[in-house]
Amino acid sequence: MSGTVIVGAGHAGVQAAVSLRQAGYQEPVRLVSEEDRPPYHRPPLSKSMLAGEKQPEQIALRGPDFLERNDIELLSGVRAVALDPASRTLRLKNGNLAYDKAVIATGAGARTLAGFQYDNVFLLRNMQDALALKNALAPGAKLVIVGGGFIGLEVAATARKLGLSVDVIEAQERLLKRAAPPLLSDYIHRRHAAEGVRLHVGAQIERVIAEAGRIVSVELSNSKTLAADLVLVGIGNQPEIGLGAEAGAKTDLGGLLVDPALRTALPDVYAIGDCAAFYLPAAGCRVRLESVQNAVDQGKAVAGQIAGQVDGAYDAVPWFWSDQFDMRLQMTGLSRPGSAFMIRGDVESNSFSLLETLDDRLVAVYSVNTAADHMASRRLVGQPSRFNKAAASDASVPLKACLAVPTGRCSG
Ligand code: ADP
Repeated sequence: MSGTVIVGAGHAGVQAAVSLRQAGYQEPVRLVSEEDRPPYHRPPLSKSMLAGEKQPEQIALRGPDFLERNDIELLSGVRAVALDPASRTLRLKNGNLAYDKAVIATGAGARTLAGFQYDNVFLLRNMQDALALKNALAPGAKLVIVGGGFIGLEVAATARKLGLSVDVIEAQERLLKRAAPPLLSDYIHRRHAAEGVRLHVGAQIERVIAEAGRIVSVELSNSKTLAADLVLVGIGNQPEIGLGAEAGAKTDLGGLLVDPALRTALPDVYAIGDCAAFYLPAAGCRVRLESVQNAVDQGKAVAGQIAGQVDGAYDAVPWFWSDQFDMRLQMTGLSRPGSAFMIRGDVESNSFSLLETLDDRLVAVYSVNTAADHMASRRLVGQPSRFNKAAASDASVPLKACLAVPTGRCSG
C-alpha cells in the first residue's frame, strides 16, 4: 500500500494528515513541503510574529514531535514537480513517490507587480518573507504598501505600532473591496487614518524612482509622490495549481475544480484549501476561499473521504478574521448581490456588527470587537429560518436569540 501523499504543509495539508490518523487511517501518510522548516501558523506572519511579539518557533502548527508520533512523514525542503495520475506517482525534484490517494494542498503564492525587482521590495506569504520584512521594519522608516487588502492593512497596523511611517496605495475606490461592505471599509479607513496611516484609495502607481537598485519614491496617478525606504506588495494571491493543472485537472476561478467530495477530475487526486475551487451550497455558487477555516475544514473533510468515513458534500459556513490595531474583525458567510445591511451596536464605540440579510435570512455577519455576535453568527448564517431583524437591532438581545422558526425553505 502506498497510502496518501499530501502536497503542501500549510493549514490544509497538515490538517488532512492529522485527521487521517484521527480517523484511524492505517496506510502511510506523507506530507511534502517545499519549505525547509516545520509547519507553522500563517496568520501571525503579518501580526504578532512580524511585530516581534512571537518567535518563529512559538507559532509552530503542532508540537515538535507531533508528526512523528502520529506516523506522519514530513518531507521538508522538497519540491513536487509533477503528478502522473496514470502511474499514481508524484515526481519530486529528487525522486518519485507512489500514492494511492494524492491531496493537493499547495495554497496560493503572492501576486507580484511586473517590473518591481528592487532590493527593498517585499512580499508576504511565507515565513521566509515575514522574516525578511521583519528585519527591514526599522522604526522611523518610510513604508509604502501597495494594496489595501488584508495583508496590506495588517502590515500597516503592525508597522505603525513599530513606529514606521506608512502609506497605503489601493487601486480600488475603497479598502478591502473584495471582502467588506462599504460601511465596514469606511470604518476601517477611518481607524487607520486615525492611527496615522496615509491612505491613497483609487490611486495607481504611475512610476517608481529607484537608485542603486532600491525604490526611493513612488509617483501616483493623482500626482502625489511618496518617499519610500521599503515597499510591500500586497495585491492578492495566485493559486498554486501547476501540479494538478499540468496533469489535466479541470480549473475554475484560478483554482483546481473539485466536486462535492473535494476530488479533482484526476483519479484519486483531491485538492483542498486556497488552491481549490468548489461549489459551496451555503453560498449557492462556486467559490475559491483563502482562509484558515476553509483550509482546516477541507483538510478534515478530505481525510474523512479518504478514510471512508464521510459520504456527503462539503458545506461549511465560511468565516474569517483579521486583527488591525484595536480592531478584531470577524466575518461569517459570503456577501450576496441584492442583500440589505443593518448595524447592530454603536460604530463610534468600536464595537458593532454589520448584519447582511437577503429575503429575511442572515447571509453574512461582519463583527468588530463583538466576539459573541461572531460566535453566534457561525451557527446562524445559512440557516433556513427567518432572521428577526427587529430583535437583532437591539444589541442587548443576544444574536443567537434572533432566529425565528424555520420557514421550510432551504438556504442557498
Ligand atoms: P491580500 O490577502 O493579499 O491582502 P486582497 O485581495 O485582500 O489580498 O487585497 C489585495 C488588494 O490589492 C485589493 O484591495 C486590490 O484592489 C489591491 N490591488 C491589486 N492590484 C493593485 C495595484 N496594482 N495597485 C494598488 N492596489 C492593488
